Amino acid sequence: MHLDEFQLHQPESLPEAISLAREFAGQFDYLAGGTDLLPNYKMHLNPRPHLISLDAIPELHRFSPDQGDLGAMVRLREMEGSAGLASRYPAVAQAAREVATPLVRASGTLGGNLLVETRCFFFNQSYFWRQSLGFCLKADGDRCHVVPQKEKCYATFSGDLAPALMALDARVRLMGPEGTREIPLTDLYPRDGDGIRRTSLRAGEVLEGVTLPPPVQGLRSIYLKLRVRPSYDFPELGVAVALCQDGGRVSHLRVALGGLEMVPRRMDALTDPLVGSQLTGESLRALGEAIRSAVRPVHNTFLAPDYRRKMTAVLVRRAVRSLTEGS
Ligand SMILES: Cc1cc2nc3c(=O)[nH]c(=O)nc-3n(C[C@H](O)[C@H](O)[C@H](O)COP(=O)(O)OP(=O)(O)OC[C@H]3O[C@@H](n4cnc5c(N)ncnc54)[C@H](O)[C@@H]3O)c2cc1C
Ligand code: SF4
Repeated sequence: MHLDEFQLHQPESLPEAISLAREFAGQFDYLAGGTDLLPNYKMHLNPRPHLISLDAIPELHRFSPDQGDLGAMVRLREMEGSAGLASRYPAVAQAAREVATPLVRASGTLGGNLLVETRCFFFNQSYFWRQSLGFCLKADGDRCHVVPQKEKCYATFSGDLAPALMALDARVRLMGPEGTREIPLTDLYPRDGDGIRRTSLRAGEVLEGVTLPPPVQGLRSIYLKLRVRPSYDFPELGVAVALCQDGGRVSHLRVALGGLEMVPRRMDALTDPLVGSQLTGESLRALGEAIRSAVRPVHNTFLAPDYRRKMTAVLVRRAVRSLTEGS
C-alpha cells in the first residue's frame, strides 16, 4: 500500500484555510492528526489531490477545560491526561483515554475524532481486497454488500468522543466560506444521513472547536466502551451517560450511543420521561430494554448486531448504576 501523490497546504490562519478550501472545492480534505485519513488514503479510499493541514493554526490548539472551551486540534493525549477535564467532564476524559493506542492518541485530535470516517468491514480494506469482491457505494462502486436491497451506505460511526460530548450537551463551532455558525453537537450528525453523508458540515467548513456548558451541581458522567481488543480497537459500542439526582429523584439524564449505527445519537425520547422519578432496578431495566429495541446495528463490524444490541442494555444499566452508587 502506498500514498498517492498529493499537495500539502499549511495555512497559518482560519481565513487562509477557508480561502484554500474555496480554491480547491471538492478536491481536498482537511488534515488534522492524519491517523484516520492517511491510512484510508493508503487503502485508496476516496483520496483527494490536496490536503489542507490545520496544524499551524494557533487558535485551534487552545485547551481550556475550566471554561469548557476546546480547540479542534487539541490532541487526545492532552485530553486524557487533563485533571481539569477529568474533574468537570469525566466521560470526555474517559472516552479520550479509550481511543486506539497511546501512539495514535499522541497525534489524533478532538476534531478528527468527531469527524472520523465511518467504518465497515467491506470498506476498511485494501484496494485489491475491495476490487476482488467488487467495490461498494462508499468507494469506487455502486452497491452495498451489507444491505444490497437498499441504495444507501450503512457504515458505522466509530468515534469515542461524540457520545461522551453529546451526553454533556456540547456544541460545535463551524467556520466556512458561508460564515460562522454554532450548533449542538447532536445536529452535526444528521438523522437522515448515512455512512457516506455522515455529517451536516457544509462545503469547506472547518470544525473550529467544541464548547461544553458548565456542569450543574451534582452532575456525574461516565463513558463505557465495548470492543474486541481493549488495547487497540474501535468501539463496537460506546455508551455515555450524564446523570444528576436531587433527593433521589432524577433531575437530568442523558444517554448517548456510538459504534452502533451510521451516526451517534442521544436517546432523549426514552430518558426524558424518567426526569422527576426515582430510579429503581425495574425502571432501569425498562430503560435498557427500550434502548435495546430502538437501536439498529447491521452486520458490518466484528461483533454480531444482536450481541451489540444486548450489550447496549447491559452497558446502559451498568453506567447508570455506577453513577448512582455512592451518590
Ligand atoms: C489503529 C487505530 C485504532 C483506532 N482506534 C480508534 C478508537 O478506538 N476510537 C476512535 O474514536 N478512533 C480510533 N481510531 C481513529 C482515529 O485515530 C481517531 O478517531 C483520531 O482521533 C482521528 O483524529 P485525527 O486528528 O488523526 O483525524 P484525521 O485523520 O486527520 O481526520 C479525520 C477526518 O476528519 C476531518 N477533519 C479533521 N479535523 C477537522 C476539522 N477541524 N475540521 C474539518 N474536518 C476535519 C479530516 O478531513 C478527515 O476526514 C483509530 C485509528 C487507528 C489507526
Ligand atoms: S455499508 Fe455497504 S456501502 Fe457502506 S461501506 Fe459497507 S458495503 Fe460499502
